[in-house]
Amino acid sequence: MAEPLIAGARPTSAEIDLEAVRHNVAELRRASSTDVCAVVKADGYGHGAVPVATAALEAGATWLAVALVEEGVALRAAGITAPVLVLSEPHPAAAPVVVANGLRPTLYTESGVAALAAAATTSDEPFAVHVKVDTGMHRVGAQPESVVELVQRVVSSPSLRFEGLWTHLATADELDPAFTNEQLRRFEEVRSTLAAAGYRPSMVHASNSAGSLHHPQARYDLVRCGIAVYGYPPAPGRAVDADLRPVMSVRSKVSLVKRVVAGEAVSYGQRHRFERDTVVATVPIGYADGVPRRLSAVGGEVLIGGRRRRIAGTVTMDQILVACDEDGSVAIGDDVVLLGRQGDEIITADDWAQPLETISYEILCGISGRVPRVYR
Ligand SMILES: *Cc1c(COP(=O)(O)O)cnc(C)c1O
Repeated sequence: MAEPLIAGARPTSAEIDLEAVRHNVAELRRASSTDVCAVVKADGYGHGAVPVATAALEAGATWLAVALVEEGVALRAAGITAPVLVLSEPHPAAAPVVVANGLRPTLYTESGVAALAAAATTSDEPFAVHVKVDTGMHRVGAQPESVVELVQRVVSSPSLRFEGLWTHLATADELDPAFTNEQLRRFEEVRSTLAAAGYRPSMVHASNSAGSLHHPQARYDLVRCGIAVYGYPPAPGRAVDADLRPVMSVRSKVSLVKRVVAGEAVSYGQRHRFERDTVVATVPIGYADGVPRRLSAVGGEVLIGGRRRRIAGTVTMDQILVACDEDGSVAIGDDVVLLGRQGDEIITADDWAQPLETISYEILCGISGRVPRVYR
C-alpha cells in the first residue's frame, strides 16, 4: 500500500502495477502476433510515461508512441532509446528538437516535410520519418490523392528516409466492421499506388488497441496499443482474445467518521438527504484529483471494508462523503478503494465511465497530477 511521501501527507495515491503493464504487453504480443508499439501519450494515460514505457519495453514492446514532441523529449531525457513515434506532425519550429532527440516524426504536409528535411541535414544518416494517410477519420493525415507527391518529396530529400506509412481507424471498437474495412480498402489503394510509383515503406501500421484485438487484417507490421496496455478493453463488454489487467488503482483512507441523523443532508446543495441515521465517512479525494463531480449523481461507489458504498452528496474539490449505513465498523484510517480491488469487489474505470457516458480513457487521463503515483 502507498504510504504518504511526507509525514502527515494525505493518504491518497494512484498505485501503478508495472507487472500488469508487462503482462498486458506480453498478451498483446501474443494476441496480435506482430510488433507492439506502446502508446504512452498524455503521461502514459495518467500512469506515468517513463515507468510504463520502461515496463512495456521490458515485456517486448519495440516501439513507443507519443502525441507531442515534448512527450518524446521527456522519454529521451529519461534515457529511453527505443524508437518513439510522434503521432501528429510536429510544428515546423519543433523540427530541430525532433532531430536532436531522434524521434520518429509523422508527416502529412509539404511544410512539415520541408521543415524536417531542413532540420535533418544535421543528422549523420538519413532521418527516418513516417507518412500518415487520412483514410476517413478526418482528424490529421495526408489526403489519399496527395500521398504520392508527399512521399516523392520525402524520398527526394537526401536528409530523409521514408520508413513508415500509416493510418488511424475511426470505428475499430464498434461491432459493425463496415467502415474499418472501407478505411483499410482506401489504405491498400494508397499502398498500391505508392508501390506502382516505386515507393515501398519498410513498415506499415494502422491499428490502435481495438484494431489489433478486433481486426486481424489491420495488424500489418506494428500495432499501436494504448488502452489495452493499461489493462482496459477498447470496447467494454466485447470479449477480447487477451487477458488484460487494469494497471491503475486509486486509493485513499477514511479521514473522518460521523453519524448523520435522519432528515439531515450532506455536501454542497444538500443533494443527498438521509431517511435514517447513517454513518458517513469522509474521504480526502475530490474532483481536483479526477473524481468526476457528476459521479455522485450517477450512483458512484467506493469500496470500504470489502463492500461497495455509495458516494453521498456532491463530490467536492478535495473530499467526498460516503454512506456507510449503520456500519459501526467503519473507522478513521480504513482503506478506501476508488478504482481497483478490495476483497472480492472491484471497481473499474469502465464502472465510472459508463454512467457518465464517457470512456475509460478519459477517467484514467483525468486522475490528476495532485495524486501521487506509487509504482509496484
Ligand atoms: C492514442 C492513439 C493510439 C492508441 O489508441 P488506443 O485506443 O488507446 O489503443 C493509436 N494511434 C493513434 C494515432 C492514437 O492517437
